[in-house]
Amino acid sequence: MNLHEYQAKELFARYGLPVLPGQVAVTPEEAGDIAAALGGTVVIKAQVLVGGRGKAGGVKLARTPEEAVEKARDILALIIKGLPVRKVLVTRAVDIARELYLSIVLDRSRKLPLVMLSAEGGVDIEEVARTAPEKIIKWPIPLDGPRPYQARALFKPLLQDGRQVQQAADILMKLWRVWSEGDCQLAEINPLAITTEGKVLALDAKVSLDDNADIRHRDWESWRDPADETPGQRLAREKGLSYVKLDGDIGCVVNGAGLAMATMDLIKHYGGEPANFLDIGGSSSPEKVTAALRIITGEPRSRVRAILFNIFGGITRCDDVANGIVRSLEESPLGVPLVIRLTGTNDEVARKILADHGLSATTSMDEGVRTVIARAQEVTA
Ligand code: GDP
Ligand code: MN
Repeated sequence: MNLHEYQAKELFARYGLPVLPGQVAVTPEEAGDIAAALGGTVVIKAQVLVGGRGKAGGVKLARTPEEAVEKARDILALIIKGLPVRKVLVTRAVDIARELYLSIVLDRSRKLPLVMLSAEGGVDIEEVARTAPEKIIKWPIPLDGPRPYQARALFKPLLQDGRQVQQAADILMKLWRVWSEGDCQLAEINPLAITTEGKVLALDAKVSLDDNADIRHRDWESWRDPADETPGQRLAREKGLSYVKLDGDIGCVVNGAGLAMATMDLIKHYGGEPANFLDIGGSSSPEKVTAALRIITGEPRSRVRAILFNIFGGITRCDDVANGIVRSLEESPLGVPLVIRLTGTNDEVARKILADHGLSATTSMDEGVRTVIARAQEVTA
């Protein structure tokens, strides 16, 4: 789960990271009231789950409460990278002398958390990584965490002033606690700003939480915003199915993450484009199958032109899946062709159930994938 900036800053504040006071508004008038309460110049910031809000006009300074109302009205009318802005964060503004980049991410290849640090902050870090990768310092963190002297050593080449080095190192030590105790996949501060007064502050906050750890964090649920999820994502979460929406036109319902990946690979191999990753899991029930079909077909502006079931029955019973398919079709007919591949536990029974309802299934994954691609193309033609 990705947190909004205001949520990430709330988390940062719990660990003593220096963030500026602020509040969230959903109307321009509210933004004006918050600005009046804060006093002085404020920054109004769009709360959408994408980067580059600054460039898109989603971050604006306001000198007076009246100006805050105006700027908030402008920002609340924006759609940034397809996401409508429904909330703005109003925070106190500061004068910035320099902008650094600081984050902790999980580096899967090294199997270690990694500090990423750059003097080129504020801007799109992906852009820096592409054009000037040497400007990003990467430091793998020992599993028991960084030592303060190591944190100071990291910042020394970038910051001449010893007091700034000390503040920045302290920020890194706290960010480490946010990352490790908070079960983050990413904790990012961009910009990590040096003010004209020499203070080091987290002016932006980006946090991505590891959903596998949600049982350890009761408070995460209150951060979940239903409006940030598509109907498919919501249903998948409620039913406990792993689901990732993609941009292709071939819907996939598969049991097991490995088989789901292999299915997507094979679709790509034969020139098709998967519309999703969907793992209905090891154990099965007809309910999971009906949910899976509702997830795939229920996405707004769905481009799905054909759906492939790829089931390898182990613990998953093919007859459960067949019953789920039949039941779904009875409840609501699919508007697109369905191709079924199944083999393994109870596949004979499954084939009989499907045949009784005028459906057939192949045992070959290769054939299933090629057929579904052909069907999708027929629909297009
Ligand atoms: P992003 O574009 O989505 O990453 O949003 P940021 O929160 O990083 O804001 C973009 C830029 O707005 C920053 O890099 C700063 O240059 C500027 N900005 C943000 N907060 C302040 C502030 O308090 N004062 C000033 N002067 N600029 C700010
Ligand atoms: Mn930023």
